[in-house]
Amino acid sequence: MADIRQITQVGDSILREKAVTVRRFDDKLGRLLEDMLMTMDAAKGIGLAAPQIGISKRIAVVRDGEEDVLELVNPVILTASGREEEEERCLSVPGRGGLVPRATKITLEFQDREGNTCRLKAKDYLARVIQHELDHLDGRLFIDIMTEEILD
Ligand code: ZN
Repeated sequence: MADIRQITQVGDSILREKAVTVRRFDDKLGRLLEDMLMTMDAAKGIGLAAPQIGISKRIAVVRDGEEDVLELVNPVILTASGREEEEERCLSVPGRGGLVPRATKITLEFQDREGNTCRLKAKDYLARVIQHELDHLDGRLFIDIMTEEILD
């Protein structure tokens, strides 16, 4: 049974660290991924990176439509093209929004929970969410790169 974890908030230093590469693909990783999914859904998020639950490892989960979820371990963007500014928000930065420029098309390499290397092409909204989550793995938040704050 998965647990809902507490989401770290801006000001917590773990959100500013460069997360470490995952080398063990074991049951513990599977449980962590389950907890991340449950925490993301409970918070009505569409993506969550491990540092957001206080774990400085290169792992993110992203909701891809109603049913599908991407589990991204050690993700790396191989190619990126296009540029568009759209609004972003973050579970770790409550109450704020901003316009953030992102690539519109990316190719991503990552590992699944068993350690298999996978490749994925994503565009538009999904590409944006993935780039946002990957930024968390390098200690970067959308408020660092937004071009304009959106005030409610
Ligand atoms: Zn975020």
